[in-house]
Amino acid sequence: MQNALLQWYAAHKRNLPWRQTHDPYRIWISEAMLQQTRVDQALPYYERFLKTFPTIQKLAKAPLGKVLKVWEGLGYYSRARHLHRAAKEIVKTHKGKVPDSYDELSQLPGFGPYTTAAVLSIAYNKPYPVLDGNVIRVLSRLYLIETDAKKTETKKQLWEYARQLLPANRASDFNQAMMELGAMICVPQKPKCPVCPLNTDCKAFNGLKDPSVLPYSAPKKKIPHYDVVAGLIWNNDKLLIALRPEEGLLGGLWEFPGGKRKKNESLQNACLREIKEELGITVRVNEPFIKLNHAYSHFRITLHTFHCLYQNGTPKALGCTDWKWVTVNDLKKYAFPKANTKIIEAL
Ligand code: SF4
Repeated sequence: MQNALLQWYAAHKRNLPWRQTHDPYRIWISEAMLQQTRVDQALPYYERFLKTFPTIQKLAKAPLGKVLKVWEGLGYYSRARHLHRAAKEIVKTHKGKVPDSYDELSQLPGFGPYTTAAVLSIAYNKPYPVLDGNVIRVLSRLYLIETDAKKTETKKQLWEYARQLLPANRASDFNQAMMELGAMICVPQKPKCPVCPLNTDCKAFNGLKDPSVLPYSAPKKKIPHYDVVAGLIWNNDKLLIALRPEEGLLGGLWEFPGGKRKKNESLQNACLREIKEELGITVRVNEPFIKLNHAYSHFRITLHTFHCLYQNGTPKALGCTDWKWVTVNDLKKYAFPKANTKIIEAL
């Protein structure tokens, strides 16, 4: 199985920029980007990120706002904040070299079991197995694992299989080959079993009518929906923007002030209240601007925006960490969450 997979990988792997290098920094950036993001979406971001921050030192020195601006649109912004924090730590404690030991690497921000094992195996060829969505799918089918892949017991079993399969001296290629097989052949729907290098040994292919029923996962819970308001607060030709606290959802990004509507509250009153709570100022809520729907990983929102006229009070960073009056043209200098960039486009 190992030889068959490695041969297939050598012949069929996609020519991706992070496969042209063993530089741990570049591999780390690619792994951070590829979590929750497809390869084609990540590619332009990868090129742009490394052009802006070609070394760990450059990344560590950059202000967080610049890192988030380059990351803007890729989502899951905690990944960018962790990259930035880890780069600072690597420069300070490890002389700018990505550590090659599990203990040291896994201490750094953003290095959970997957990223740690991925960087150690791919960059340093250390024998650590990886378990991402693609590998979980391949292993579940290969070994006919029919329990919920999210359960701890199933995860343990998957780790064990991944460990057993890994050839000690080919960890870099083998882990990438497993991920590539999951991405290109053992795909979620309609896996290409007849051309799969593992089909002779695959239990799902040889024992099930339809291998795509695996991996099994329990039905998803209903995702909650919230109405959220945001005010475009005008003071002559300037707009007021606020910086979200660094910790938490969309931390460190700028936004148009606002927040969640309370039960039975009108959208206009919610806008008035949220702006008062966030910045301590009074505005007049005028006509509605655009309305848009947006999905996050655990909830969905409808974002209602209103043109507002600044009335009185000096803005204070009460529910945010900073605020600024800016022109519409200046908005492009700041990193905003996706829903807010759509407001900017509409403006
Ligand atoms: S034979 Fe089919 S189900 Fe089995 S690993 Fe290959 S593609 Fe996946």
